[in-house]
Parts: sequence; structure tokens; C-alpha cells
Amino acid sequence: MNTYDVCIIGAGVVGCAIARELMGRHWDKPLRIIVVEQHDRVAAETSGRNSGVLHSGIHEQPGSLKGRLAREGSELAVAYAVEQGIPLLRTGMVIAISWEDIRRGLWREASVLRRLLINARKTRIRISFVTPSGLRALEPNLRSCCGIVLPDVSVIDSLAFVESLRTDSEASGVEFVFNNRVVGIDEDAADYIVTTDRQKVHAACLINAAGLYSDDIAALALRHKKYTIRPVRGEYYELVDSEKKGLIGRLVYPALPAHATGKGIHFSPRPNGRLFVGPNEVVVQDKADYTSRKTPPGMFVEALQKFVPTLKESDLEWAYSGIRPCIMAGNGRKSDFIVAIDSESPLLINLIGIESPGLSAALALARHVVEMPSVQARFNQSRGSSPSHGSRIG
Ligand SMILES: Cc1cc2nc3c(=O)[nH]c(=O)nc-3n(C[C@H](O)[C@H](O)[C@H](O)COP(=O)(O)OP(=O)(O)OC[C@H]3O[C@@H](n4cnc5c(N)ncnc54)[C@H](O)[C@@H]3O)c2cc1C
Repeated sequence: MNTYDVCIIGAGVVGCAIARELMGRHWDKPLRIIVVEQHDRVAAETSGRNSGVLHSGIHEQPGSLKGRLAREGSELAVAYAVEQGIPLLRTGMVIAISWEDIRRGLWREASVLRRLLINARKTRIRISFVTPSGLRALEPNLRSCCGIVLPDVSVIDSLAFVESLRTDSEASGVEFVFNNRVVGIDEDAADYIVTTDRQKVHAACLINAAGLYSDDIAALALRHKKYTIRPVRGEYYELVDSEKKGLIGRLVYPALPAHATGKGIHFSPRPNGRLFVGPNEVVVQDKADYTSRKTPPGMFVEALQKFVPTLKESDLEWAYSGIRPCIMAGNGRKSDFIVAIDSESPLLINLIGIESPGLSAALALARHVVEMPSVQARFNQSRGSSPSHGSRIG
């Protein structure tokens, strides 16, 4: 049986970022780390099925982990992308209110812009208010009565991002095993024994970064169901016509009322020049149900035609979907990220509900985990040492 200091379950952006962060620190003795993944590659689930937006945190509750880690993580991710040559589109984000909403008396949306402006000021996010003509100068095809612009928001190639984190981790000694689905977790004195469908692994610290299945993995380790993930699918259509691809160049989001559960269907340009619209929010029963009962394009057109009147259903082609691993708070709203030490010995860290903005937050989330006192105490990091990320770790 193979023995490790740390076993990370899940090779999504979070598992790979934590592996890299752990290996980038100076510990008293070198750590043996394994990442166990059920698919044959990294980012095969949510980390490879998103919008790639490096969010500012403006949509999140001030003081939440989601808000703080998105802001910090996005800054780290932009610097990392530049350093590693990962495709990055420095598009900026527009959050707009349509004339149609104002005519329909939806003044709540206007007050949302005020709330976002206040939130941005509190959290020192660079932002400006823009008039219709200002918006038209930025995006000639956009019809909007006003909006705010966040110039620092970028879009990253999420697959290349996760692949690079894996390359860094592997170069510094992390072992990745693919096609290994975790089916059992037992305790043996101070270790966990993680059983996959192919092997058994011993580890003193277990980090559960299993995304949609993190509730099931936590239940295996804890022997009871402490968390329940609600899978919420988000679908995308693509503008495939060569002329329509250029309709919008920036991220354009609607201003939604405070009680909205998501950030809204938006124009989602990518570093490779493609333009998508989405994602919507559909609660699904099956955590792997990416395609059944696809939402017809009409609702996407309805959501965005008020900003771009020339948009038609025939412009859109079904592209892909991703599934958010949501967790609900007691008040019926989505919970903040949960990063919980659920056992000190052996050490169990559960990362639950890492939905959007988890891609943005990943590098900061990894720091957050590694700097937890329980992790520091377990691996005796030498006092006074600092993070040692160079261009490549190793
Ligand atoms: C539609 C959509 C749009 C989004 N847009 C954005 C965005 O623009 N910006 C942003 O910041 N965030 C966005 N997100 C959120 C972001 O994609 C996620 O927060 C992030 O990818 C979560 O990463 P993860 O590593 O926690 O999970 P995952 O990527 O799901 O990784 C978990 C891994 O664990 C593996 N695993 C699970 N169970 C087992 C098991 N039993 N054995 C072995 N392996 C297992 C899985 O196979 C998977 O590879 C979006 C999400 C969705 C769905």
C-alpha cells in the first residue's frame, strides 16, 4: 500500500491549485502528495465547463469567502497566466441595465447598480459608472440605459490554467493518478485509507476537492451525510456566424435584483475569439446530466435581445453545459464556500459548495487551505518561511 502525507481527491482547479501550493511551501520535511482523479484527465468536470471569468468578487456578499477569495485569486491567476503564457482575454466586464427594463418599471435593477458600486468601493474594486453613449463607445452594438464597467476583469482559458497547475505540481513531485474513483474511506490510527476502484492509499491528511461529489466523499470519511450538494446546470449557446461573433467584445452581464441566485445570462467572449451566451440555471437530479432536456435558445435570446436587438435564435448553436456544485444556506440562498476541518486526526479538510467564483478563487483558496493552523501544525512549516512560488515550482 502507498503511503502519503496528503491525499487530494479531485483534479479540478481546486485540487490542482492546492497540490501546487503545498509543494511550493517550505516544510520541515518534503511532503509526499497524491492527487486521485476518477477521470482520465484534469478539469474533466466543472473546471472545464465554465465561463472562464476571473471575477472581481463584486457580485458576492461583502466579507464572504467567495468575495474575498475571488478578488485575491483573480489577481493571482492573472499574474500566473501572464507568467506562464496561458491565454487570457483582458476584456473588462460591463454590468448593464436595458432601456426595456426601465420602461417596464424594473427600477430594482437600477438600485442594484448602486449596491454594486458601494460594494466595489468597500472592497477597493476598480469600477466606473457609464452613460449610454459611453457604453456605445465601448460596445457599438450594445443598447443600454446605463451601466458600470470593471476594467480589470479578464477571461482565462480554464483548461490551460488547470493543465498548467498540474504541470507545476508534477514538476515539483506531486503524483497524479487518473482513472481512480474513490469508493471507500476508512481510518487506521492516524491515517486515512482511501480505497479507489484500482488501489488503496494511506494518507495522514485528506483534502476533499471532489466538486459535485464532495458531499459524497465527506460522507464516506465522516460516516454520515453532513453536506448535500444541489447540482445546478448552466447551459451555453455559441454565436457561430463569423459576423455575429464580433457583436460584443466584452463580458456583458445584466444587472439583476439583489435576490437573484446567479449573475445572469451574459455575453461570454473567450481568449480564442469565440463568443458564447449563457449560462442559465436549471436544477438537475443527476450530477452528470449535462445534456438531457436542453433549454431551447429562445430563453437566451429573450434574456439578451434587450441589449442587442439584432440577436436571433438562428444565430445560436448549442455549445455545452456545466453543473454548479451548489450548497444551500438555511435562508434558502446559496451558501458561501465551505472550507471545513472536519477531523483533526487524521486531518480531513472538506471543500464544499465551490461553485462560481471557484475558478477565480482557486489560487487564493489554495493559500487559505495551506495557511490553516491545522495544516501548518501538522506539517511543521519552519517559522518565518514564506511562499516560494517562482515561475515554475520545483
Ligand atoms: C456553468 C458554470 C459557469 C461557471 N463560470 C465560472 C466563472 O466564469 N468564473 C469562476 O470563477 N467560476 C465559474 N464557475 C465555477 C467554477 O467552474 C468552479 O467553482 C470550479 O471549477 C470548481 O472546481 P473544483 O476543482 O472544486 O471542482 P471540479 O472541477 O468539479 O473538480 C472536482 C474533481 O473531483 C473529481 N472527483 C469527484 N468525485 C471523485 C471520486 N469519487 N473519485 C475521484 N475523483 C473524484 C471529479 O472527477 C472532478 O474532476 C462556473 C461553474 C459553472 C457550472
